[in-house]
Amino acid sequence: MTRRIAITNQKGGVGKTTTAVNLAASLASLGRRVLLIDLDPQGNATTGSGIDKQGLARTVYHLLLGAADAASVRVRAEAGGFDLLPANRDLAGAEIELVEQKQREFRLKQALAGFADGYDYILIDCPPALNLLTVNALTCADAVIIPMQCEYFAIEGLADLVNTIKKIKARLNPALVIDGVARVMFDNRNTLAQHVSDQLKAHFGGKVFDALVPRNVRLAEAPSHGLAALQYDRSSRGAQAYLQMARELIEKQEGIRHG
Ligand code: ATP
Ligand code: MG
Repeated sequence: MTRRIAITNQKGGVGKTTTAVNLAASLASLGRRVLLIDLDPQGNATTGSGIDKQGLARTVYHLLLGAADAASVRVRAEAGGFDLLPANRDLAGAEIELVEQKQREFRLKQALAGFADGYDYILIDCPPALNLLTVNALTCADAVIIPMQCEYFAIEGLADLVNTIKKIKARLNPALVIDGVARVMFDNRNTLAQHVSDQLKAHFGGKVFDALVPRNVRLAEAPSHGLAALQYDRSSRGAQAYLQMARELIEKQEGIRHG
């Protein structure tokens, strides 16, 4: 069974792309067939996977507008061991162009019909907005993972996100669930971080991943080499934290312990 997971948080710079790329590489290293979809015009997941986003003839933009099929948009992220549907600036135009179109919330889902079956996990990196691109991700997904920086304003924004997920569930995708809340860029020495972390656990219970992703310079450096941290510095704390998160995900999803 394919698990489609949207990695989302409308707050900018909270670690969505870092989580998407590193989970993709970690799941692949654990033998899973993984597709990463870059649904952000910034194209950071594309660059971070080692793909030059400027030189692409076909991207997720063409996919959403029906101008290309998924197989012709797909590229291989060699180092990470996963497939990628890449994006670049073009995607910013899709939002406007889609507004006029029928079934505009279902474009990604329709584009993946049949194609998705070849994968165990499909991860969708969302833009920092609750816009039509994010709605396409949430309509297509079975589940969401929410990366959270444990700081004061993070909790405030979370209520909006949870409301959006509820609305999508009610109107467009009844099966949508939250698979996990990922604590990222975590600073142990910060008592507020600990407090926010406790609040997350009180609210989301077992959905909060045990894996705690620390602030780790390797995670910040790896994308400039087009690599996940696992390939850039396997022993780094950041790489190991995402590997643990992938194992937890597999355990929850497949009901088995891995490694
Ligand atoms: P956007 O909303 O713009 O898409 P994002 O939510 O995808 O941002 P990232 O791009 O993953 O966030 O991370 C923001 C910045 O923080 C990046 O420079 C990234 O390299 C860095 N970063 C992310 N996670 C960590 C971490 N655990 N430790 C250190 N740096 C990190
Ligand atoms: Mg991003």
